[in-house]
Amino acid sequence: MIGHDVITEAGNAAIGNANTNGCPVWCIEAHIDEHPDERTHSTWIQAVDLSALPLPGLLQRLWLDLLLEPRKDEPCIRLHIDDSFVAELTVAEARDIGIRLIGLATLADIEAPVPSPARL
Ligand SMILES: [Zn+2]
Repeated sequence: MIGHDVITEAGNAAIGNANTNGCPVWCIEAHIDEHPDERTHSTWIQAVDLSALPLPGLLQRLWLDLLLEPRKDEPCIRLHIDDSFVAELTVAEARDIGIRLIGLATLADIEAPVPSPARL
């Protein structure tokens, strides 16, 4: 169950297990002059180019980041499309959506069966 162990470790890190600096292991912030209780922890922002073109020649981009705000017990995953807020997900919701997206993409990759000559 190596895969399960990896997921468990990632899940624990996402929930906010602190490292020696008082930050979750995924936090990239320097937190200069910030009181530990007032810190907002965050990751690198990730981007996915979307094929939908609201305006000719203008690509949309989906932005995702992981954030743990002060006095919250669990981080959230925020989604924006360009400058517009889309959703704030719990870690469990993000994981569930990710699994479902992979499942749907896998279904789409399955080629339709070729009809047998007997059915033509
Ligand atoms: Zn931090």
